[in-house]
Amino acid sequence: MSGRVTLVGGGPGREDLLTLAAVRALAAADVVLYDRLAPHEGLAGLAPNAELIDVGKRPGHHAIPQSEIESLLVDRALAGLHAVRLKGGDPYVLGRGSEEVLACHRAGIPVDVVPGVTSAIAVPGAAGIPLTHRGLSHLFTVVSGHAPLTDDELAHLAGLGGTIVVLMGVNTLPSLTAGLVRAGMSATMPVAIIERGFRDDQRTTIGDLTDIVTTAGRARVSSPAVIVVGEVVRLAHDGDASATELMERAASLGAVVP
Ligand code: SAH
Repeated sequence: MSGRVTLVGGGPGREDLLTLAAVRALAAADVVLYDRLAPHEGLAGLAPNAELIDVGKRPGHHAIPQSEIESLLVDRALAGLHAVRLKGGDPYVLGRGSEEVLACHRAGIPVDVVPGVTSAIAVPGAAGIPLTHRGLSHLFTVVSGHAPLTDDELAHLAGLGGTIVVLMGVNTLPSLTAGLVRAGMSATMPVAIIERGFRDDQRTTIGDLTDIVTTAGRARVSSPAVIVVGEVVRLAHDGDASATELMERAASLGAVVP
């Protein structure tokens, strides 16, 4: 049998947010390479015939380098196996999925891509925050906060007047908020940070561009988290344990548009 690779978007971490195509690919896998943001607790049941390899961590807690993940995938497929690469969210949203597809192409290995529910949209939703709302925001931009944004990028983002969604942005929050104010965004623009979306300990922290850094610091906000900047944060409702406080604070930030 000839080997192949399936890149699977695993969604934001909860097993029931896997697609049917993802479940089928896992069931047919000989080997699964997964990382910690993908749902992995029930993997042994979902992929009963597969060797399971955690590529998000190794002893000493260092992630396996991207090049090594790609070699693992290619080597297993060349050995005739069906290798599934299970990734958090959607493989093509800030997840280096396209690099893995290119590595397969270079090695002449057939590769399929199964889309997933991206945390960029689903995690704000889990905190009751819609990314668009008629009259409030008709667009959203998803950006990586891995490295600080340039002044040019900040100016464009501020100028768009839509919702800004930042992934991997906890460490660069101070430069983001200061930069957006410098670029002309209102200092009272609401900001929400949703940590560990869809987990039992999901938590939302709300503030505005001037106080969110202090509030987040006091709350010891940590990764993984999705940051939302925009008027839609005022619509936050329900969704997690901090909901009551969230609603009060969202209401105090301004009137909710009906
Ligand atoms: N491809 C993924 C994103 C990969 S980047 C997707 O489509 O969702 C990894 C970042 O995604 C994390 O640093 C965090 O910002 C975000 N993220 C993923 N899952 C999350 C979750 N369950 N809760 C909060 N943030 C999450």
